[in-house]
Amino acid sequence: MTAQIIDGKQTAAKVREDLARRIAADDSEEMPVLAVVLVGENEASRIYVRNKKKAAAEVGIGCEVLEFSDSIGEHALLEAIGELNDNPHVNGIIVQLPLPEHINPLRVLSNIRPEKDVDGFNPYNAGLLACREPDAVVSATPRGILKLLETTGIELAGKHAVVIGRSNIVGRPAAMLLLNRDCTVSITHSKTENLPAIVRQADIVIAACGQAGLVKKEWIKEGAAVIDVGINRVNGKLCGDVDFEGVSEKAAFITPVPGGVGPMTVAMLLENTYEAFRKQRFAGQAHECRCGSHGCGCSHH
Ligand code: NDP
Repeated sequence: MTAQIIDGKQTAAKVREDLARRIAADDSEEMPVLAVVLVGENEASRIYVRNKKKAAAEVGIGCEVLEFSDSIGEHALLEAIGELNDNPHVNGIIVQLPLPEHINPLRVLSNIRPEKDVDGFNPYNAGLLACREPDAVVSATPRGILKLLETTGIELAGKHAVVIGRSNIVGRPAAMLLLNRDCTVSITHSKTENLPAIVRQADIVIAACGQAGLVKKEWIKEGAAVIDVGINRVNGKLCGDVDFEGVSEKAAFITPVPGGVGPMTVAMLLENTYEAFRKQRFAGQAHECRCGSHGCGCSHH
């Protein structure tokens, strides 16, 4: 078998075109606005932010980048986020990760008002997703993964999906999304024993462990769909967590790196921002606390 390539670049372009059309047809006088908080000099983060800004402009979403030096304290950063929470012209807020070590990322992400949390990293949104609540803002990468799987036409219900990686931003939410779509889900990680034997049972493999070429041909069940989330640099060359050449001989579907999940992440972030904009405008909920807890970012507490 030679796997069919799942073209993330093309699917992402379609998502962006569709979004641009919907935004252009929107009768609102205001445009959706995404605020990106960037702390420090991390070169990769700067490239990601530049790409997000460019992609936002192309679909008609305003993007404001707020840059802070590495030495900013957590309190000052939380204050800046509080201002964005209260700014009615800002519809979506993301904090580019990683943050400097002296700042607790969970505390920062928890302070983004849930309605504006277009990365879906606030534990409140993660909780909604875990509770199968349709109102959850689902983080962009897992949403992109699901969208790519949908393009294959495979029936998800009942399939065994094995997720390699359990991070808050990829592995866990991807597993929740697949569970909510009636997959039987195994979540694996660095302490998992006999990972190849578990992956061999998978109809769907989501590789999100940041280990270049970890997933081998011998691990793959004939006809599986393989989504490679990994972004690794080996000898200056970009590659995923899957041995693409070998696995392509056994899988039915596979995403390339680059050109797979990566472009989808940006497209789905823009989609989340537009959805946040519409919800805030139509439901008027931008300033309404729905979490009922301290530390959620709402000005009510
Ligand atoms: P993290 O480092 O936060 O998490 C990696 C996960 O993989 C951990 O749960 C870890 O286990 C697990 N893991 C590490 N080594 C192994 C192993 N040998 N076997 C099984 N599991 C292992 O990474 P992220 O989730 O943030 O990202 C994962 C990858 O996806 C990275 O390459 C990242 O660059 C990429 N990425 C790509 C995006 C895109 O848009 N394409 C977006 C975000 C990330 P444990 O918990 O035990 O430590």
